[in-house]
Formats: sequence, C-alpha cells, structure tokens
Amino acid sequence: MVSCAVANCKNTSAKISKNKDGITFHRFPRDKARRKQWELAVNREEAWSSTASSAVCSEHFETKDFYLTESGLRRLSVEAVPAINISPCQEQEPTISRVEPIDILPTDTEEVIKLKYKVHRLEIIAETRKKRLNLMWQGKRRLRKKLDRMKLLIKHLIINKKTNGKLH
Ligand SMILES: [Zn+2]
Repeated sequence: MVSCAVANCKNTSAKISKNKDGITFHRFPRDKARRKQWELAVNREEAWSSTASSAVCSEHFETKDFYLTESGLRRLSVEAVPAINISPCQEQEPTISRVEPIDILPTDTEEVIKLKYKVHRLEIIAETRKKRLNLMWQGKRRLRKKLDRMKLLIKHLIINKKTNGKLH
C-alpha cells in the first residue's frame, strides 16, 4: 500500500482509486536536491526522510505540473514540487481531482492547452473565493445583529441605573 507522505494528507492507495477519484501517487525524485525539496515540502517531522517507496499524491500538485504522454497517461513533470494543501496553515485550494476535464481540441497548440488549464483553474479558485466571501457576509450579518442586541442591552442597563439612582 502506498500512503501520501504529506503530513496532513490521509490518501492511501487502499482508499483511493485512480479511475474513480482521479488521484495518482508519485514517488520522490531520485535526484538528491529535488528529493530534498520534496522532503521539505511535505511538512513532516524533522527526523523524517523519504524512502524508495515514499510517494506524494496528485492532490498536492498543480494542473500545470502534469502532462499527458502520447498513450494518454498522466505524468508528473520533472520540475514539479508538491505545493498545494501541504500545510494546515495554508488556504485550502481546489485540487486536480476536483477539476472538471477540460475541453481540448485536436487543433489546440500546447500553449492554448496550457492557457485553458490556467483559465479553468482560476475559475475554480474564483468560485471558492466567492463561496468564502458569502460565508463572511453571513458572519458579518450575525455579528451585526449581536451588536444591536448588545447596544439595546446597554441602553436598558443605563436607563435602569438612572431610574434606580432617582429612587435613592
Ligand atoms: Zn496527499
């Protein structure tokens, strides 16, 4: 069984199906310097180091990190370094498995395909931000209501204090 090496990722080959979830596992690079980059990126405890079987799932790479082979296999480019959702402090970003397939025409040049991927990704990010903004507005409305209630309460307290004061 392969498990994703990213500290807070729970993806394992036992739970994930490549065809159903669109998630693939990618072994650490053999090149020392690039291996080190990956080891740092996965956010593990200091004593941790990768082994020959260590892998990172496709959820931590950007769409542009992948290319399709002539036989239609999705391969990770050699320069790719895990960068998405690798730390709990990071803003959650939409990952490649949640990206709808892109309409690529046989006449599209590599440049056009790249741009299509980019536009698509930005659309998804915009959608996520919009949702988050809506949640924030809802939160703001709730806070405003609370504030109004508090103001009213304070007003009542002041009135009460005044009338109490007069009584004495
Ligand atoms: Zn993962």
